[in-house]
Amino acid sequence: MTINHHLNDALLMAYSAGSLPEAFSLVVATHISMCDECRARLASFDAVGGSVLEECDTVALDDDAFAATMALIDAAGSEAIVADFDADALFPAPLREYVGGDLNAVKWRPAGGGVRQAILKTSADASVRLIRIPAGASVPDHGHRGTELTLVLQGAFRDDEDRFGPGDVEVADEHLHHTPVAEEGEDCICLAATDAPLKFNALLPRLAQPFLRI
Ligand code: ZN
Ligand code: ZN
Repeated sequence: MTINHHLNDALLMAYSAGSLPEAFSLVVATHISMCDECRARLASFDAVGGSVLEECDTVALDDDAFAATMALIDAAGSEAIVADFDADALFPAPLREYVGGDLNAVKWRPAGGGVRQAILKTSADASVRLIRIPAGASVPDHGHRGTELTLVLQGAFRDDEDRFGPGDVEVADEHLHHTPVAEEGEDCICLAATDAPLKFNALLPRLAQPFLRI
């Protein structure tokens, strides 16, 4: 898998600091499990965050606490590798946990124009959904009030900005207006998080918006 579009520093830092809404954390965790480059950058932010913690030594940790923490990290590391090993799965491990399985466990609902979606349960400060765009079909053109983070899991889409294939992330904000179109050949399946309602231009998607919770 060749990944061309990665997470930006602001997202990785916020993820490292634990300050992202749950919906965004899921997209970041899923991309990181697919992307060596972002995993390495996250590790460096984690290290910086850790050294900042060490410098403000208001809390004195004893040797046992340090050893216990390292043991926890070791345990978590080996568990993650075991959990991630499923060569036949489309969804990386963090996403499979939310869905309760792989692609065949998703409960799709129609979202108009042949597009289907499945909203995943997270805290209410942002929302995250799986979107399935039939090959060659498009999502109605829209702008954004907040941030929209879209990760491609299968197939590819193009919009006014670029082409996004498996593993790629598009970070959209108030400045981007786009019409994502799935490439021919294969349905495009994405994981998308938003922290504010989208701005649809056409009347029909606008009317359906409250119902679709997008
Ligand atoms: Zn990446
Ligand atoms: Zn968008």
